[in-house]
Amino acid sequence: MTTILVTGGAGYIGSHACKVLAAAGYTPVTYDNLDTGWRDSVKFGPFEQGDLLDRDRLDQVFAAYRPAAVMHFAALSQVGESMTEPGKYWRNNVCGSLSLFEAAIHAGCLDVVFSSTCATYGEQDGVVLDEDSAQQPLNSYAASKRAIEDMLDNFGASHGLRSVIFRYFNVAGADPEGEIGEFHQPETHLVPLMLDAIDGKRDALTIFGTDYDTPDGTCIRDYVHVMDLVDAHVLGVKWLEDGRGSRVFNLGTGTGFSVREVVDKSGSVTNREVPILEGARRPGDATALVSGSQRAMTELGWRPTRSTLETMIADAWRWHQNTSGHYSA
Ligand code: UDP
Repeated sequence: MTTILVTGGAGYIGSHACKVLAAAGYTPVTYDNLDTGWRDSVKFGPFEQGDLLDRDRLDQVFAAYRPAAVMHFAALSQVGESMTEPGKYWRNNVCGSLSLFEAAIHAGCLDVVFSSTCATYGEQDGVVLDEDSAQQPLNSYAASKRAIEDMLDNFGASHGLRSVIFRYFNVAGADPEGEIGEFHQPETHLVPLMLDAIDGKRDALTIFGTDYDTPDGTCIRDYVHVMDLVDAHVLGVKWLEDGRGSRVFNLGTGTGFSVREVVDKSGSVTNREVPILEGARRPGDATALVSGSQRAMTELGWRPTRSTLETMIADAWRWHQNTSGHYSA
């Protein structure tokens, strides 16, 4: 069986990637320092605890498993924190990726699937963002992801590293079988915060800004179901296996939903009231971020099938109810 090294495999998206990789016949080896990941979410392959900055540990793991490719999810990802502690983001994300790519090249593993973000596009209101849109990161998190994209490009030219870079829009939902789900500590994302408000774990969901220039005044985002997102990653591995070379793909559906639409749909899916407060804008939030995702569909053959608001919220709610929304370790 082909082995894939999954950095951040104990995180939200990485754990879902391990599930679909295993289902597709790969062996996913999770490499994670458990700073923000959960040991309980590693269920579909071996676990190796380690830090990206620990080159010796990485060398050991590459030597032990001889992976055919790396899926690189491990990163710090809180925009607010990245603005107060940029050094943490440059060290962990950028230096960590440098250490990982050098270890991969040293081991002769030249295929990388990398998690990047639509936040690298910055604020470009009213524009549907495609892969050729200008990148203007507005915060240190996005700047760190943009720097890693550049690193992959440079290492491709000089060392033959091949990469599929995915720029994610907003990821939501959970494994429909309820084995794994979304849990961050601290939590900053809309859907899990709302589910906590719905079942009384927090008093209310605060809507960050109701005076945006959108039809209902709240921000618009392009939400994609985590299972659809990780399906694209398996296609990304196959793309590299087929020798199709380095490529960047947006992952979103091209349809935007406002915060109020997400709130209303959560009320109807869960059949509960959503306690909300209307608050101030959150610094750094763009008005609308919507993906042009034609490339992933036409070139990779990606077909999102679960990315309706209804399904994303229903799947997230199922896991939330099964587990009360968290892992214990
Ligand atoms: N949001 C909100 N209240 C919250 C968390 C998020 O109104 O408690 C809004 C946020 O302003 C954005 C959308 O929900 O418009 C999605 O935010 P999230 O943090 O989930 O993802 P982001 O778009 O920042 O990647």
